[in-house]
Amino acid sequence: MTSMSGLTDQLSEYCPSCGTERPHGVSVTLVTESDETDNAAYSREPYRVSECLNCGRRTERRMNDA
Ligand SMILES: [Zn+2]
Repeated sequence: MTSMSGLTDQLSEYCPSCGTERPHGVSVTLVTESDETDNAAYSREPYRVSECLNCGRRTERRMNDA
């Protein structure tokens, strides 16, 4: 399993732009965070991307916030 492309869902969430709850398209993306090291211990971090279906505002949130 190398690439994981979403997994899209629709959720009603609060949108700061709209100032109210709106349906959001929610998906999960793996973002490669590479340092410029050769033997790249690069890591792929899952991000949760939600996009307001009303105004198009996108919110990306790192899921592994430790
Ligand atoms: Zn919105």
